[in-house]
Amino acid sequence: MLDVPRHEFVPEADRPRAYEDRPLPIGLGQTISQPYIVALMTELADPKPNHHVLEVGTGSGYQATVIARLVAQVYSIEIIPEHAESAAARLQRLGLKNLEVRAGNGYLGWPERAPFDAILVTAGATEVPQPLLDQLKSGGRMIIPIGNGPNDQVLKVIEKNLSGKVESRDVLPVRFVPLRKN
Ligand code: SAH
Repeated sequence: MLDVPRHEFVPEADRPRAYEDRPLPIGLGQTISQPYIVALMTELADPKPNHHVLEVGTGSGYQATVIARLVAQVYSIEIIPEHAESAAARLQRLGLKNLEVRAGNGYLGWPERAPFDAILVTAGATEVPQPLLDQLKSGGRMIIPIGNGPNDQVLKVIEKNLSGKVESRDVLPVRFVPLRKN
């Protein structure tokens, strides 16, 4: 966390607040997550040096950058093209080599790059998207906020065990912007 310059990921005007433990607006109604939540989601993903990880909801690229330091390869998908482009440019400027960003609907995952050891969804869903579950390796984990709205979301860990059985546990209440279905 200390290695990643969070001030590079927030708008110029918010730089003085970049190292406070709170979310900040990044434009077009979206936010960069609170550092505590980024750290928690990263830890819950149980990242290993050989892992391939999918992130849904690139936003600023901050969460992707944090986890990219701990795994082999990160793929991150963002539905707002302007955010996908500015995040890709930022990551190139910062010299990230093991992180690929594209614009698209992450509800559908990234089938060409699947399967994934871990999937981080950084927007709130009403249910676990089936395409993401399909693209998770056996033995893999998905970290995802689930709920019916911003005031009713729980961060969940979804584990697919080696025989393909899926188990879910609640971690804590959270508040993420909605995951779009299309
Ligand atoms: N992880 C980001 C913060 C995410 S904010 C960071 O570290 O900065 C949530 C992001 O999810 C927003 O940018 C929003 O546009 C995006 N999003 C919402 N629905 C999506 C979908 N279906 N596919 C991909 N991205 C989506």
